[in-house]
Amino acid sequence: MSTSLLNEKSMAFLEKYLNNASPTGYEWEGQKIWMDYLKPYVDKFITDTYGTAVAVINPEAEYKVVIEAHSDEISWYVNYITDKGLIYVIRNGGSDHQIAPSKWVNIHTKNGIVKGVFGWPAIHTRKGEKEQPPKLDNIFIDIGAKDKEEVEAMGVHVGCVITYPDEFQVLNKDKFVCRALDNRAGGFMIAEVGRLLHENNIKLPFGLYITNSVQEEIGLRGAEMITQRIKPNVAIVTDVCHDTTTPMIEQKKEGDTAIGRGPVVSYAPAIQNRLRERILETAENNDIPFQRLASSRYTGTDTDAFAYSNGGVASALISLPLRYMHTTVETVHREDLENVIRLIYQTLQNIQTGETFSYFD
Ligand SMILES: [Zn+2]
Repeated sequence: MSTSLLNEKSMAFLEKYLNNASPTGYEWEGQKIWMDYLKPYVDKFITDTYGTAVAVINPEAEYKVVIEAHSDEISWYVNYITDKGLIYVIRNGGSDHQIAPSKWVNIHTKNGIVKGVFGWPAIHTRKGEKEQPPKLDNIFIDIGAKDKEEVEAMGVHVGCVITYPDEFQVLNKDKFVCRALDNRAGGFMIAEVGRLLHENNIKLPFGLYITNSVQEEIGLRGAEMITQRIKPNVAIVTDVCHDTTTPMIEQKKEGDTAIGRGPVVSYAPAIQNRLRERILETAENNDIPFQRLASSRYTGTDTDAFAYSNGGVASALISLPLRYMHTTVETVHREDLENVIRLIYQTLQNIQTGETFSYFD
């Protein structure tokens, strides 16, 4: 293993970028942090109506390669306020009802953050009862208000977005723990590729579009929009995938992937086979470890949005293995982050302008 790619400045960026909330539909503050970091390394930025941000190198080149991640994080919406001043929620993305009770929350209002807690009946009061699991229709937020009027006076109304306050922490030196590593880790990794290309003075023969899409968590919507705008020839997407080695996950169904074993390269109909083989060759030639993952039908990532756009875009997916997805303690391995960065960085230098990746050449 070579020495670390990540320096103090990149770690400070990762921490700042993670600690900022960027809920689906409200990604722009995170995008500003991301663009500020990338500014010295790229020629220009494109932003779109819904907030997707693209850092471009060689904007005049005809042949275009995208490297992509998504900028949004799962959250909740205020859906209903009771007369007693308690708040019921609906999902904005795949938020997990099972982890909600006793979590602190940040409710985003026009006047700033209002703090709250997901309450839950005490164990004593549940005695003799059949245990009720937390569900969307029984979890509720208490913001310390006596009634609905006081909730409204505090600036909280139906439609306010709710995030968790959990921030970046390191577990045993090289495990990074935070909410929203899905997919802030991806935005971080593609930004690091931009930095390394610049610092190592690598001149790519094509236009590179470092793309941080919005609204992935509710159905790949940001990617669907920006691929029409960019019209790329190639798209290499990065997102997170499950570490399937922790308890209660059926590996026969979910596959065998783990943190610390390297980038996860996907097989699926949306993955262009010759592009994927190029990525695997690059990994082998550069001694970058990798794992394989198969998906039937959809990858469930922005890869699908790029692949099936513009008459078909050669697309591939390189995932970062992660534990406890969509909880507030998502966990990744520092070495995997570095190896995904390396793999994308090296693959870009292994793509020529004009390549079609056709099966028939
Ligand atoms: Zn997700």
